[in-house]
Amino acid sequence: MTRPTPGIMSIRAYEGGKPVEEVKRGYGIEQIVKLASNENPLGPPKAAQAAMVEAAREAHMYPDGNAYYLKNDLAARLNVEPNHLLIGNGSCDALQILAETFLSPGDEIVFSDQSFVMYPILAKIFNAKAATAPLQNAANDMEALAELIKPTTKIAFIANPNNPTGTYVNKRQMDRFFDAVPEGPIVVLDEAYFEYAQTKPDYPDGMEYLRQGRNVVVTRTFSKAYGLAGLRVGYAVAPPQIIDWMNRVRQPFNANIIAQAAARAALQDAEHVERSRAVNRKGLAYLTRAFDELGVQYEPSAANFILAHTGRPSKELAESLMRQGVIVRPMSEYHFPQSIRATIGLPSQNELLATALARSFERLPKSEPDASIR
Ligand SMILES: *Cc1c(COP(=O)(O)O)cnc(C)c1O
Repeated sequence: MTRPTPGIMSIRAYEGGKPVEEVKRGYGIEQIVKLASNENPLGPPKAAQAAMVEAAREAHMYPDGNAYYLKNDLAARLNVEPNHLLIGNGSCDALQILAETFLSPGDEIVFSDQSFVMYPILAKIFNAKAATAPLQNAANDMEALAELIKPTTKIAFIANPNNPTGTYVNKRQMDRFFDAVPEGPIVVLDEAYFEYAQTKPDYPDGMEYLRQGRNVVVTRTFSKAYGLAGLRVGYAVAPPQIIDWMNRVRQPFNANIIAQAAARAALQDAEHVERSRAVNRKGLAYLTRAFDELGVQYEPSAANFILAHTGRPSKELAESLMRQGVIVRPMSEYHFPQSIRATIGLPSQNELLATALARSFERLPKSEPDASIR
């Protein structure tokens, strides 16, 4: 039997949940609320939907592999030249292209051990060595991460805000980190939730560090605040030399024609992003109040989801919620055995979550506290 590359043997293939229609059939329920993947509950912007229909007429053509117009629009928005940009089939694609561009077997990369799933997976795919630091108060511990970085470290991945905790590293902490690693590795600032977090006055915009000439790759996405997760489009902003190298690895037609058109339209729809933030702000306030009433601890969120420490085994609880039509993400695999991550939804969806939680709690008694949570 031909064996695969060694690193992948310890990867567990991503298990998405069952399709919503299957859950409905299987559990005999009519209404399902999916709060598991941090999708935008408002859906895609109207203008993006129209752009998709229009672009569908060109679906027999290959897309513009260079994403000329989308890059131009983004460049104008971000105040950079287009050669600072790489468009990905989702920002995960950009992360993978970066890893593929820079990592040889045995190279070292650094990230927090309760952070985005893609980082350990990339380490395994490319047979890199991962050095990880524990979170501190559920947030990236920038001092600990800086200490892990050696002259040979290739990449440091920092999700800001962090997924699954929703916490963010502030400007002072980020400044100090960069000062501590002056000639450091490529620092990836994964800003998938940028549009939500940017309302915090002390949230550090990754673009600032690029402008300072740091060795930084900022990644952002149309999957979250822009409501286009199903189209798979995200981007990296980096020094032109890095983008040039990444372009050699990138599949020439990685961002499809419909996604490019929709992303351009979504980018112009400031009102949709504003409404998304407003719905999120109100939903977060509602949920934290509901959690307080239920005696559930949670982490402060700068994103469109919340990590709740429920005191119940996460898988059992998630299963119990699913039976009531609410899908959340159990966090046992992220080493939060009693926590769930819930996307902040529309008011009615958040109410369903709160009601379902209360019901589940009646059936599931509180277990021994999780020692890792303060
Ligand atoms: C959702 C998310 C992404 C976005 O992935 P896409 O491939 O752009 O859909 C990236 N990083 C983090 C931390 C995320 O939570």
